[in-house]
Amino acid sequence: MKIIMLGAPGAGKGTQAKKIAEKYQIPHISTGDIFRANIKGGTELGMKAKTFMDQGMLVPDEITIGMLMDRIGQEDCINGYVLDGFPRTIPQAESLTKALAERGEKVDYAINVDVPDENIINRMSGRRACLGCGATYHITFNPPVKEGICDTCGQELVLRDDDKPETVKKRLDVYHQQTQPLIDYYKNAEVLAEVDGTQPMDAVFQDIVEILGE
Ligand SMILES: [Zn+2]
Repeated sequence: MKIIMLGAPGAGKGTQAKKIAEKYQIPHISTGDIFRANIKGGTELGMKAKTFMDQGMLVPDEITIGMLMDRIGQEDCINGYVLDGFPRTIPQAESLTKALAERGEKVDYAINVDVPDENIINRMSGRRACLGCGATYHITFNPPVKEGICDTCGQELVLRDDDKPETVKKRLDVYHQQTQPLIDYYKNAEVLAEVDGTQPMDAVFQDIVEILGE
């Protein structure tokens, strides 16, 4: 079962990817993890990637694809995997399709966790973080005992710049431009499945299980 997760930043696709990995006993593969593993392991691709990153440049797609193909060629991926955070653009999706086709493989499901922008902006603006100990809260879904104060260390909680509406809107704009076209791409490939990501986390996962089968 080869699965790709689609959805806007903040839609909760990472959480769902973890739950899928757990239930179906397949690895949850994020590009961040692959980068870290290759750089730590000193692989040729990892070293190449690092030279770009050290200069603050984007790592070219062929390097990322190379690391990804190495990763999914490993033994634990024999029954499939769930990709989180890749592909993000049409050229990346096309490269992935091509690289998989060379092995006689293809993506089985592209699951889009659909959440309207307004919901995402509202969710994110409710987040609060403790700069002292790193704990995170949400004013509605996971509030601290005492408003504005960290339960663990007693420091004042803040709304991080990353979670501010204007920052979230900017990220969503990039998503709509670059990543949303993947929904049509995978629809045309007849592997797209959509779930309503505005539901509670467990209900979203139940919908995914219905798509993937028990
Ligand atoms: Zn704290």
